[in-house]
Amino acid sequence: MKVQDNAVVAFHYTMTDQDGEVAETSRDGEAATFLFGYRNMIESLEGSMLGKEVGDTYTITLPPELAYGRLLNDNLMRVGLKNLQYEGKLEPGMMVPLRTKEGLRPVTVVKVGKFNADIDINHPLAGKTLTFDVEIVDVRESTEEERKHGHVHGPGGHEH
Ligand code: ZN
Repeated sequence: MKVQDNAVVAFHYTMTDQDGEVAETSRDGEAATFLFGYRNMIESLEGSMLGKEVGDTYTITLPPELAYGRLLNDNLMRVGLKNLQYEGKLEPGMMVPLRTKEGLRPVTVVKVGKFNADIDINHPLAGKTLTFDVEIVDVRESTEEERKHGHVHGPGGHEH
């Protein structure tokens, strides 16, 4: 089966930045799994998999604007704690989702106050040109329930 809309795709990847440093890899664990066509992934990376089959390997390099975005200058903000999604104690250095009008956005906590937190809204990988070494390891049809939920169930996916 080829990678196409509504397929469940499992892939291994190693992501390196423009200095050749490995920023992230799935090679030391389970393959990443996602439902194709539901915008659960970097769009350009998802698009690059269309038509690929199990065993295909390839490399794709994405400039910042196609990966995690450009670095913003006005990146430090103070927000109410209630706008952040977290459990337990909030600590500097943690990455947590911020509720925005466009949905959840991962931010880094810089300083925590009683009611507010100072956050850095730049994604840690913003401003970087990223190269992905990709290997497609599984492609299967999704279940009706997965399509309804918009995500993968079972191994590598959600439980609900
Ligand atoms: Zn679900």
